[in-house]
Amino acid sequence: MTRRKPVVCVHHSPDGWVLPDYTDFADCTTNYRREQDGRPACTSTAVWKVVEDYGLHLTIGFYCDTDLPDEHRHHPAA
Ligand SMILES: [Zn+2]
Repeated sequence: MTRRKPVVCVHHSPDGWVLPDYTDFADCTTNYRREQDGRPACTSTAVWKVVEDYGLHLTIGFYCDTDLPDEHRHHPAA
């Protein structure tokens, strides 16, 4: 059985992303790991939204410019 690669969509919004319930702006997704590692939380605006479509489910991550994983950096910085 081959594992399907997710379809990845990377979106950029210079003002950050509002959460689906419109209560707040999305925080940098790396904060979950930072908390586990005991590092301070990222306070940068999460300007990148990365949607990975695995067919059965979606994962959505938000990243500031510094924390965007390299594999999602398809576009040269404007
Ligand atoms: Zn960050």
